[in-house]
Amino acid sequence: NRSTFEDARKLNSVVFDKTGTLTEGEFGITDLVALERSEEELLTIAYSVESNSEHPIAKGIVNEGKKRSLDLRDVSDYQNLTGKGLQATVDGNEVMIVGPGHLKSEKIPFDEYHYEKLAQQGKTVVFLLENKRLIGYIALSDIIRDTAKEAIDTLKSMGIESIMLTGDNQRAASYVGKKLNMDTIIAEVLPQEKSEIIDELIKKGRKVAMTGDGVNDAPSLAKANLGIAIGAGTDVAIETADVILVKSDPLDVVHIIKLSKATFRKMIQNLIWATGYNAIALPLAAGIFYHQGIIISPALGAVLMSLSTIIVAINARLLKID
Ligand code: ADP
Ligand code: MG
Repeated sequence: NRSTFEDARKLNSVVFDKTGTLTEGEFGITDLVALERSEEELLTIAYSVESNSEHPIAKGIVNEGKKRSLDLRDVSDYQNLTGKGLQATVDGNEVMIVGPGHLKSEKIPFDEYHYEKLAQQGKTVVFLLENKRLIGYIALSDIIRDTAKEAIDTLKSMGIESIMLTGDNQRAASYVGKKLNMDTIIAEVLPQEKSEIIDELIKKGRKVAMTGDGVNDAPSLAKANLGIAIGAGTDVAIETADVILVKSDPLDVVHIIKLSKATFRKMIQNLIWATGYNAIALPLAAGIFYHQGIIISPALGAVLMSLSTIIVAINARLLKID
């Protein structure tokens, strides 16, 4: 979207989603705790339900299921609880796979000590509920994208604040946010809260870019002054955004802002050049210095006319070098 891109030079806040945006979104299972049934059974249920989701957590669990060649169970009534997890019926039982927020709000007790320990290592933990009973949990870890730190640091040096906005738990969020030295970390937010936070920032007079990959990021991508989607993200995010990062590289957010600034500089330069040039050449061609013996022949006039266009075009092409 060209007009929003042009305004990217005015941005002073960049909001990043965590999972899939600052991190690779390629989860691997690190811990599996079965409270009831066997580990394999627990994973089979999770694998069957998560096969229906395109969330990075789902992909991590599905990969593990495939690696262990588990058999898929029949899943019906599948429902995506955006930003919370998912729900389905497996062998007549209602299964839910959710984050800790759901357990807290439903007052379902769990081993908070162990959970905290896992979360402090930056792991994302999801809980399996069967007929509203906790039957086990799975911890997964993700890796921070190589260029995320450089992106945040460069934004900082340009005077632009960076904000993390994630549906994941507070601990995992601070683990990543602190490593990247981000200005603000906001965790455990639901999709509609994400877009409300963007709204508040805009109301405060900030010029806000939102960078995200997920279905849950789409409303905030639409709200922000500039919506930036990660190319490897979901279709909804890509369709909603103004800019798509084909290489899924957070550093390209910096490049967008730099390119927008450079483009604007070129526009101003060309405007000054073209106006100044015409202000001199037109009167000359009209013969105001005729009495001083300065006249421009029609042929020279035609060459000069073209030259003005060529110079502006060359200056525009030099944008690549800037
Ligand atoms: P982020 O905002 O960092 O991209 P999400 O909003 O996509 O994270 O996810 C927030 C939380 O919702 C996850 O940390 C997890 O607890 C839960 N969740 C989302 N999708 C799934 C899923 N497919 N399976 C299990 N849990 C999920
Ligand atoms: Mg995400």
